[in-house]
Amino acid sequence: MNGSHPDEMTLMDYAAGSLSIPQALAVSVHMCFCHECRSLVKNFNHLGGALLETLKPASADDSVFDALMASLEARPSAARAKKNTTHLEEKSVPHFTNPLLRYLPTSIDKLPWQRQTKEIGQFDLTPLVNVKGFRVALQKIKAGAKIPTHTHKGIEYTVLLSGAFSDEMGVYQAGDFIARDASHHHSPVALQNEDCICLTVLSAPLKFTGWYRILNPFMSWR
Ligand SMILES: [Zn+2]
Repeated sequence: MNGSHPDEMTLMDYAAGSLSIPQALAVSVHMCFCHECRSLVKNFNHLGGALLETLKPASADDSVFDALMASLEARPSAARAKKNTTHLEEKSVPHFTNPLLRYLPTSIDKLPWQRQTKEIGQFDLTPLVNVKGFRVALQKIKAGAKIPTHTHKGIEYTVLLSGAFSDEMGVYQAGDFIARDASHHHSPVALQNEDCICLTVLSAPLKFTGWYRILNPFMSWR
C-alpha cells in the first residue's frame, strides 16, 4: 500500500461507487488535498463510461481495457510516493467542497472534543455517518504525543488534516492518506511542533499490543 495516497484499486472502487460511504469519505477528503488522485478518478470515470459504451451484448472492445491498463502503467507511483509534499500544498480547491463539512456541527477548531487520554481527543462521527460496521472519528493528538502500538483487525484509513505524525513506515503531512491493516503494527507519534488532527475510518476495532493489550476488551464494538 502506498503511504500517502489511496492505491489504484481503492481509487477505481471509489470511481465505480463501490467503496463503502465511510471509506469513500476518507478518499474524497484526501482528494481535497491531492490533484493527482482527483485526475486519476476523473480518468477512471471517463474510461468507465467508455467501457460501458462498448459493452454490447457480445463482448467489450479490448481497446478500452488496453487504454485502462495503459493509464495504470503510465502512473508514476514511485515518483508520486517520493514527492508527497508538493501535492499537499494545494489545500483549497475551488469547486471541490470538503465532504467532511456536511457532518460537522461546527468548524474543526470549535468541536467539543471528547477526552480519551490526557493527550488524545476524539470527535465521534460514527452516529452522523451512520453506516453499520464502521467507526468514523476525528482525532486530535497533542504535539509529541504517541498512540499506543496497535495492529488492526480490519482496515484503517487515516487522512491527516493538519499537523504531522510519523510511524514505523514514514512521516506524514496534511492531506496524506494512510491505509493500514492486520499486516501492520504501528505506533504513530505526532511531531513536536503542532497538534495533529486526522480523520480515521475503521472497519473493525484496533488491537493494541504490548502492555496496552489490557485495553483490548474495551475496544470491542457492540
Ligand atoms: Zn493522492
